Amino acid sequence: MVPEGQTKNELSLLGGEKAVKSEQGDMFKWPIVTDQHEQAVLKVLRAGQMSGFEITKEFEKKYAGMLGRKFGLAYHNGTAAILGAMYGLGIGVGDEVIAPSLTYWATVAPAYSLGATPVFADVDPETICIDPKDIEHRITPRTKAIIVVHYAGMPADMDAIMKIAAKHNLKILEDCSHAHGALYNGKEIGTFGDVAAFSLMTGKSLAVGEAGILFTDDRKVYERALLFGHYIRHDEITLKELKPYIGLPCGGFKHRMHQLSSAFGLVQLELYPRQMAEIDRAMNYFCDLLDDSAGIRPTRPPKGTNTTKGGWYFPLFKYVTEELEGLSLSRFCEAVRAEGSTCNPGCNKPLHLHPLFTTMDVYGHGRPTRIAYLDESVKIEQYIETLPVAEDINRRVFGVPWFKHYRPEIIEEHANAYKKVVKNYRALLVEDTDKDAEGSGKAGSQIGGYSSFFSNQKNLQ
Ligand SMILES: *Cc1c(COP(=O)(O)O)cnc(C)c1O
Repeated sequence: MVPEGQTKNELSLLGGEKAVKSEQGDMFKWPIVTDQHEQAVLKVLRAGQMSGFEITKEFEKKYAGMLGRKFGLAYHNGTAAILGAMYGLGIGVGDEVIAPSLTYWATVAPAYSLGATPVFADVDPETICIDPKDIEHRITPRTKAIIVVHYAGMPADMDAIMKIAAKHNLKILEDCSHAHGALYNGKEIGTFGDVAAFSLMTGKSLAVGEAGILFTDDRKVYERALLFGHYIRHDEITLKELKPYIGLPCGGFKHRMHQLSSAFGLVQLELYPRQMAEIDRAMNYFCDLLDDSAGIRPTRPPKGTNTTKGGWYFPLFKYVTEELEGLSLSRFCEAVRAEGSTCNPGCNKPLHLHPLFTTMDVYGHGRPTRIAYLDESVKIEQYIETLPVAEDINRRVFGVPWFKHYRPEIIEEHANAYKKVVKNYRALLVEDTDKDAEGSGKAGSQIGGYSSFFSNQKNLQ
């Protein structure tokens, strides 16, 4: 049955022609590897300097300089950088850290290794970053830090979060792994918190390979992180309280960055600002083309605020099913993909519902690890959150194409794919079996996953 006013074959899913027809070339290729990268890497390889730290220090210095932070410390991945940042802040046994439930697990899972307890907060449905309104009532005498994630490129509401932290004397750890180079009211993310950690793995906006880095202006945080995981650089430690322990990695292990990555990273730092500007132009153009389409809303900072999305890692749109008569997100995306574009329903699954945080006894304490270091009287039920936005968000957002170049004709084709599906949505209601029902973030969800990177990449060619 074809509803009135709609041509039978327009949608590719129903037999029509695809909207995206042209050769995509290197539109989505990432990272962009140049001769300059190859020469830099070969130089290290030929000199046999893979395991040193001189080039790594150069990388740290250059990146810290770009951000205007005093100290940079590089890691073999972003997860270790977050663990090091937590140790640097002094997070330890019995402490609580408040983090958004909607993020990649490495934002908060390392807290377990220090005997700390993650406490999850909900996200703001607009920014999809931690909701400042859901933080304060979760603060207890044990709370040590708020972990902020600038999720999917979008800066979190730092003004409100900094106010809460100052009022309750809490530290802020910024997880910047999704938002390299993004600005919040004109100031670069990674410069707000007591410490900031970035993943630099290959899928991220500033792609270096398996690598990560932390930044701080606080010498104590820096030196504690050195003590914890960079034993080969203990000669940099000056603080009297740490000096007696130098020589062995104290608590952590070996967190040093591979120097092929450092060399690659030095070139990336040079090229990234220009690449970022082009991505920003391309993605904003795509959003402009779709701003007025029913059922979908670009997730981007309000215009005129000097808040930006940097490299637009993992670009997300909101889905307003009510404007399309309840058409399921999975059906919607299926139709867009049939047009030759990218449309991945969902984002990360909420962490607070995973058994790692509700039941699992990771280390053999005889009780769930989440409460293992707290007073015996504490019950796990007190730590199991209900977070309505995070639990529903996988039905309300989807990943769009992540353009690496400003090529208007190609971007228009992708926008037309979306427009065509929005225009013809009624034809899709007929066989819509609503697979989203399983996508609520509860166990068994078919939408989203625990790894935003891979769920977002699978349809990118
Ligand atoms: C990728 C990522 C990390 C971890 O980085 P790795 O380099 O993969 O270890 C941490 N937090 C967030 C939000 C991430 O997306």
